[in-house]
Amino acid sequence: MKEIILCKYGEIALKGLNKSSFESMMTKSVKRRLKSCGQFSVSKAQSTLYVEPLNDDSDVDMAVEKLSKIFGIVKLCRCCVLEKDMDEILTKSLDYIEDEMETARTFKVDAKRSDKKFPFKSPEICIEMGGKILERFPHLNVHDPDVVVTVEIRETNAYVHAGSIEGAGGIPVGSSGKAMLLLSGGIDSPVAGYMMAKRGAIISAIHFEAPPYTSDRAKMKVEKLAKIITAYCGDINFFCVPFTEIQELLRDNCPEELFTILMRRLMMEIAQRICEKEDIQALVTGESLGQVASQTMYAMVCTDAACRMPVFRPCVGMDKSEIVEIARKIDTFDTSILPYEDCCTVFTPKHPKTRPNLADVEAAQNAFDWEPYIQKAIEGTKPYLIKNA
Ligand code: ATP
Ligand code: MG
Repeated sequence: MKEIILCKYGEIALKGLNKSSFESMMTKSVKRRLKSCGQFSVSKAQSTLYVEPLNDDSDVDMAVEKLSKIFGIVKLCRCCVLEKDMDEILTKSLDYIEDEMETARTFKVDAKRSDKKFPFKSPEICIEMGGKILERFPHLNVHDPDVVVTVEIRETNAYVHAGSIEGAGGIPVGSSGKAMLLLSGGIDSPVAGYMMAKRGAIISAIHFEAPPYTSDRAKMKVEKLAKIITAYCGDINFFCVPFTEIQELLRDNCPEELFTILMRRLMMEIAQRICEKEDIQALVTGESLGQVASQTMYAMVCTDAACRMPVFRPCVGMDKSEIVEIARKIDTFDTSILPYEDCCTVFTPKHPKTRPNLADVEAAQNAFDWEPYIQKAIEGTKPYLIKNA
C-alpha cells in the first residue's frame, strides 16, 4: 500500500512572513539527510512536509529515523495514502494499521478534515471508523485509549495512521546564524552543540589538542562525537588546533593557580580569530555554573573579558544529571565517557583559583607576548568537514 511520511512543523508554522524561508531551510536539510535512504519526493502544503518514497528501494524506516532528528519538525506521521472515498478509507486503512491494532488494548479515532468539501464531518468519520475497527478487532475497547487512529482528509488525499512519532522540535538549522562550538571529549560540550543547533544555529566545532600529552585516540573520540551530533546539526566544519606549545609556555611562565583561566582565555582568543575569518558570530561552550573551578561566575567573568563576541552556554543552568540525560538521548554519552585525556586535564593545577581577579589575570597574561604563538597555532589549524553519514 502506498505510504507517506507527513512531517508537521512546530514554531515555524507561526513565523508569518519568514515562514517560507524557514520551510525552504528545512526542506533542504530533509533532502540532504534523506540521500542515503533511497529516492523520496519532498513537497510542502498546509504547514506539513510530505515525504513520499518513490520506489521499493526507498527505505521508509530509515527515513523516519533520520527525519526524527531534523529540527523544526515536531511530529512525524507515517501514513497510508488513500483516495478521498469513505468506503476506501474504511476498508483499506484497516489493513494498514492491522499490526498496531492487534497489539493495542484500547483505542480512539481522531479525524481532521481540512478539505471541507469532503461529505463526512469529522465526528461522522470517527463514528464510522470506530465502528469498523471494533468489528474487525473485537478485543479492543475505547476507554483510556493507548492508540490513536488518525484520519486526515487533506487537499489531494486521505491519510490514516495509528500513532505519530515525536520529532526533534526546535527551529531549522540555518535560521539563527553560525556558532563555533568548543568541543572537548567530555559529556557537556556535545550537548551544548546539540542545544544551539536546536535553536537554529549552524554549528562549526573547534578542538584544542596537545600531543603528545593527548593521544590520537583522544582526537578520534572528539571527531566521533562531532560525527554523532551531525545527525542533528548537519555537516560540521571541524577545526583542530595544535595547542601544545601554548600549554607548555603557560606552565613555564604563569602563576600555577591561574593556569586554567589563562588557558581558557587563550582558547577563546584563537577561537574568535577563526570565527572572524569564517564569518561565525558566536562561541558555544559546555560550561555549567559552578561545576568545576573554571566554571564559577568569577571565572566566567574573566573568560568573557577576553571575548569580543557572545559566548553561549546552553548547559549553564543544568545539573550534570540533566546534561547526561540529553547526552544519552542524542547518543553521545557512551563515547564521551571513554577515558581518554583532554588538553584541559594536562598540567591541571592542584589548587586552581575559584575567584580569580580580572586585573591579576590580565596582568599575568600581559607579562608574556602570546601573539606569535597564537598566530602559529592558527596557521597550524586545517579545517575539514565532518559529514553526516
Ligand atoms: P565537557 O564535558 O564539555 O568536556 P567539562 O565539564 O569537562 O566539559 P571543562 O573541561 O572545564 O569542562 O571545559 C569547559 C568547556 O570548555 C567545555 O565544555 C568545552 O566547551 C571547552 N573545552 C574544554 N576543553 C576543550 C578542548 N580541548 N577543546 C575545545 N574545547 C574545550
Ligand atoms: Mg572536559
